[in-house]
Amino acid sequence: MKNKVLKSYRAFLVDVDGVLVRGGEVIPGAIDGVAKLQKIGRVVLLTNNSTRSRDQVALTLHQAGFPIEADDIVNSAFIASQYLREHFGLVRVWPLGEEGLSRELSNCGHNLVSPSEADWVVAGMDRNLTYARLAQGLRALLAGARLLATNEDPTFPTPDGPQPGAGAVIGALRGMGFSPHAVVGKPSRIAFEIALEKAGCSSEETLMIGDRLETDILGAGEAGIDSALVLTGVTTEQMLGNRPPNVRLIARSISRLSAGEFIYH
Ligand SMILES: [Mg+2]
Repeated sequence: MKNKVLKSYRAFLVDVDGVLVRGGEVIPGAIDGVAKLQKIGRVVLLTNNSTRSRDQVALTLHQAGFPIEADDIVNSAFIASQYLREHFGLVRVWPLGEEGLSRELSNCGHNLVSPSEADWVVAGMDRNLTYARLAQGLRALLAGARLLATNEDPTFPTPDGPQPGAGAVIGALRGMGFSPHAVVGKPSRIAFEIALEKAGCSSEETLMIGDRLETDILGAGEAGIDSALVLTGVTTEQMLGNRPPNVRLIARSISRLSAGEFIYH
């Protein structure tokens, strides 16, 4: 059978930007690709984007035609919320990020408070970042709050080109002298552990499918998870050169991957 390789896995962790969608548009064949993978095993979407809640992401993907529910999604806002609960219980937190981050922290049971009352500042990508908001973060951290970062992706792809990612927000806090207690999104092991928990599978039974070498592929490798690189996002065939990186599979798209058509395996 052509996709015998895929059938050796029981779960698939799938990145979103550059794998399923690109600049708000569905990548051709991606919906069918996800459906095919779901016939083989559990599909969990693993994304560093913290700007929207899992419900909001699920709604958008569902409306676009993807057979995806909120419980199939692990984003860095959810990862941060789960990490805090598992290690520190329910905490008093001030989010420096967009609505999705606040919603996930609140859905998890954490107490959203003002900067002066916070034990934690959880920071993520924030397209409404202002000097005044940074000053609030500074005061919370000076008063003893600890910092947790959703991720440090330097940029975020849009149809008009790259925009500053969560790395710009965390960088501003680092610039004021504060380092995060942890950075929970990909490539952190924390992200993959929470995604595996959601998938209900072990690292050996799971394949990570992503477009970015330094997060999806690197992080999966460090967590002991096989990975598949697709070329519909930030990584091009030219960038790979002659030597395939440390990946199990390479395919032109998730559609080709799900059909068992690989460039490299
Ligand atoms: Mg991506």
